[in-house]
Amino acid sequence: MNYPLTLAQVLEHAHRIHGDKCVRTLLPNSDVHSYTYTALYERVKRLANAITALGVQRGDRVATYAANTYQHLELYYAVPCIGAVLHPLNVRLSTVQLAEIVREAEDKLIFVDGVFAEQFAGLQNRIGSKKIIYFNVPTQTDSLCYDASYEHLLCEVEAAYTWDIQDENWAMGLCYTSGTQGEPRGVLYTHRSMFLHTLAVNQADVFGLTEMDIVLPVVPMFHAMAWGLPYACMFAGADMVLPGPKPTCLADLIAENGVTVAAGVPTVWAAAYSELRKRRREISSFRRLIVGGEAMPPTLIEAYEKDLGVEVCHAWGMTEMSPTGTFSKLRSAHQKLSDVEKWRVKAKQGRPVPGVELRLTSGTPTDFTELPWDGETVGEVQVRSPWTASCYYKREPTMEHWTGDGWLCTGDLATIDADGYMQIVDRAKALIRSGGESISSIALETVLLRHPQVLEAAVIGVPDEKWGERPIAVVVLTPVGAVSNRTDDDLSEALKQQLAAEFPKFWIPDRFVFVDEIPKTSVGKSDKRALLAEFASQNLLEEKEMFVSNEW
Ligand code: AMP
Repeated sequence: MNYPLTLAQVLEHAHRIHGDKCVRTLLPNSDVHSYTYTALYERVKRLANAITALGVQRGDRVATYAANTYQHLELYYAVPCIGAVLHPLNVRLSTVQLAEIVREAEDKLIFVDGVFAEQFAGLQNRIGSKKIIYFNVPTQTDSLCYDASYEHLLCEVEAAYTWDIQDENWAMGLCYTSGTQGEPRGVLYTHRSMFLHTLAVNQADVFGLTEMDIVLPVVPMFHAMAWGLPYACMFAGADMVLPGPKPTCLADLIAENGVTVAAGVPTVWAAAYSELRKRRREISSFRRLIVGGEAMPPTLIEAYEKDLGVEVCHAWGMTEMSPTGTFSKLRSAHQKLSDVEKWRVKAKQGRPVPGVELRLTSGTPTDFTELPWDGETVGEVQVRSPWTASCYYKREPTMEHWTGDGWLCTGDLATIDADGYMQIVDRAKALIRSGGESISSIALETVLLRHPQVLEAAVIGVPDEKWGERPIAVVVLTPVGAVSNRTDDDLSEALKQQLAAEFPKFWIPDRFVFVDEIPKTSVGKSDKRALLAEFASQNLLEEKEMFVSNEW
């Protein structure tokens, strides 16, 4: 029984028991690449030999800069199964942020998808000499600087490889999250933690995947290990449909492949809704939508369930939690409720996945008194589980993030009802969530304050129908700035450019508001609640006018 739990077992099981199941990938030229688990298995073994031949040893980090493709899936298995650590880079982060991440992670190799060649070149200039392997090599390769092509590497090695993971506590993956102070923090997963996470999410009352399913993970493979789906799908024997870098029409993918389960952030599903509705009959296979990363608006849950007949399951978690923590499915007691009441339950973030423990506390690092689960009392959610990290990569655990008795402080403020359903009501941390991705207001403020005409800056996240939240920058100018003859538009443009040099496009605030004074709290900090109260309602009013003709 005392047998190491490793991802090699997931791969071996998928090959031996579900070898004929399929992985389909939408390629950038709209062709579809399709092969079986058995074909994938053979290539994973070749890849294991190829990576080993490149000098990768146990514990080395191997990065990827790629979308959801079959090559990325092969790396998800080959890298951990030789004892190395898979480190998917978030292609949406700026080169400045990524260069820092690559420096800290000390990645030994980087596998790059050719569709990102142009944007990767910027990063390559900043990270010095690293071995770069390209897949989907672009035809125009003149300016491309790399060490080998993926397919060439696979051709040169044997297909035989014997896995040798001696300890389930060996690291298998590394994902970075944005910390509250804006600097990225790494989270290391082990074979054991990911194996247990895989078993947990595959339970009937969680993702509930079976061999009959055809699963479309829209959640990127660089976002918290694609919520564990690459392992959960293959352990269950479900077919996978990988959307590649440019999925222009999710409705096509769902209809043409008979997708039964899809997963992604609410923004994606808000955008896809109209097209899916037009093609209702062609997507009759589509039975379940797993959403997370941010709150799914109840109106959208209703639209998917009522108009499309798709069951919406709301998941909550964090990169630090591998990432699944809670999952919202109805209980038997809910069956007698009206549809409206059921959607209200589904809009909650759900109950702890078996194996995850939650507690509500006052949020004070030394006071662990549990607050009641009455559906009304708001507290900070703290969590522990066999797949929740106990420190950040290369950092000691701090009281800000982990309690003395070993629980992770999530920074999420929530209520929990008597049935164990958690509902997030706010965030204690200063992160803005836009399209399922985090934006650090503090990092933006730091750079805004570097502008010679900026005296004070506060960035807040205002509600946005499409993206969940969008940043707005509230700025006080220096006396010189205030009397300069630059218009607000000129200044907004200058500040935008200053931010664009350091952050990805989606981080740039939608609006810059110039005020005489920023309200302060009793301890002299910018009072963001007061700013939110002022600007959020303003933004919603403008949005209402824009979305008045929206179908849902
Ligand atoms: P990340 O590590 O990037 O996945 O971000 C984790 C954070 O996203 C959590 O601490 C929450 O603040 C937020 N989050 C994740 N899932 C949900 C959800 N279903 N509803 C509301 N917020 C969520």
